[in-house]
Amino acid sequence: MLKIYNTLSRKKEVFKPRKDKKVNIFVCGPTVYDYSHLGHARTYLCYDMLVRYLKFLGYKVFYLQNITDIDDKIIKRAKEKKKSWKEIARFFEKEYLKDMRSLKIESVTKYARATEHIKEIQSQVKRLLEKGYAYQIKDGIYYNIKKFKDYGKLSRRTVEQAEDSTSRIDIAHKKRNKGDFCLWKFSKPGEPVWKSPWGDGRPGWHIEDTAIAEKYFGLQYDIHGGARDLIFPHHEAEIAQMEAISGKKPMVKYWIHTGFLTVDGQKMAKSLGNFITIKDFLKKYSPSVLRFIVFSSHYRSPLDYSDTLTKEAKINLERLEEFLKRLKATKGKLAKSNKKIIKNFEKKFLQALKDDFNTPKAKGLLFNFVAKINKKIDKDQISQSQAKEIYNFFKKQNKIFGFLDFQKIEKKHALPKEVKKLVELREKYRTQKNWLRADQIRKKIHHLGYQIEDTKKGPKVKKIK
Ligand code: AMP
Repeated sequence: MLKIYNTLSRKKEVFKPRKDKKVNIFVCGPTVYDYSHLGHARTYLCYDMLVRYLKFLGYKVFYLQNITDIDDKIIKRAKEKKKSWKEIARFFEKEYLKDMRSLKIESVTKYARATEHIKEIQSQVKRLLEKGYAYQIKDGIYYNIKKFKDYGKLSRRTVEQAEDSTSRIDIAHKKRNKGDFCLWKFSKPGEPVWKSPWGDGRPGWHIEDTAIAEKYFGLQYDIHGGARDLIFPHHEAEIAQMEAISGKKPMVKYWIHTGFLTVDGQKMAKSLGNFITIKDFLKKYSPSVLRFIVFSSHYRSPLDYSDTLTKEAKINLERLEEFLKRLKATKGKLAKSNKKIIKNFEKKFLQALKDDFNTPKAKGLLFNFVAKINKKIDKDQISQSQAKEIYNFFKKQNKIFGFLDFQKIEKKHALPKEVKKLVELREKYRTQKNWLRADQIRKKIHHLGYQIEDTKKGPKVKKIK
């Protein structure tokens, strides 16, 4: 039974999707005006692992992510770079998708651009106006937060508290309440526009997500995610919009929020200048290192990034790869007592994941187990079949976490052509019982750095270490 922490209830809840084994999940995507950094990577890696995990548990998952391709920051960047908003947005979207591929994030079913859902956005604005939740003033159409009785239920704030802590305030003088947010912005000269029944303009920030989600999932769905900075005002606003339109609650059954990637305790952010782009990180380290770092901490906790952390992750990964190589080579005796140790580890590992995806606990169990089994391999106490079972368990779990490179682990060193020819020639002499020539060739092969072991199945060639 999977339990997952729901921000809405502030409790761990048993996970039960709305319909059988089908899961619809929406995760807030990036605003594409710059290169993505490790903070973004952390959030998207957490959701990638979570979605892979749900699939591992047998759920059929539709993972939807929006791309914010129109926004004040994009317009500002376009002006600075003397480019159009579209050139900026498409360029950084491409870079974002490249970064995701480099990190082996392939779980997203659909990326949906805001600007390709203007019809759906306008339909939601229209319904909010008709139902009396929205009103029009000089610079746009706004949502009246005092009309929605449940406003603040996700962030646990009253309307007054919410207004005091609005972080991305929509500045407009004629708003009815300070915390009212914009649904449709009338455009200023030189800004991108879309036609609408109320006047040319562009969508506000919060409405794109609910419009996109409604198109693909309908009025209610299973999971909505993002990092914790999005709880307020963004996700609070989404609930206000969607539940006002549909009259149904909850819009989303489980709200999940990831913790920040920090540097010296401070959120990694463009504005603070303490960021490392995904691209720069990948120039020095493999994506496995980052995947391992993300696996090592709980998705809801802050993750403090440092060089030491990266170095440790690299060492730990090498230890795991070495362990898997040893497992492949082991030919010890069958010890019945191992069965219990292996089963117990597998059970506890899976239990940790079922408890709100507790990956740091799973990691602890993993390394304890590796230490125990390594000692047994030293003493020839792990049989081939037991080694295979452990190996296969690791391989299966790697489908979720993706930090082990099994291609590398399983790669057999291809013999150089010259050595291969010599081995064949030696075999020919051996069948002719010409032991002298055969031995001369063996020495030649040895000289080239390879050693031959004659077995019943034929010669086995190994690289001399
Ligand atoms: P943005 O493009 O800034 O809207 O961010 C895209 C996603 O990355 C959002 O879910 C953010 O909350 C998340 N995010 C941004 N910075 C960090 C960080 N330092 N740690 C974790 N997630 C972050």
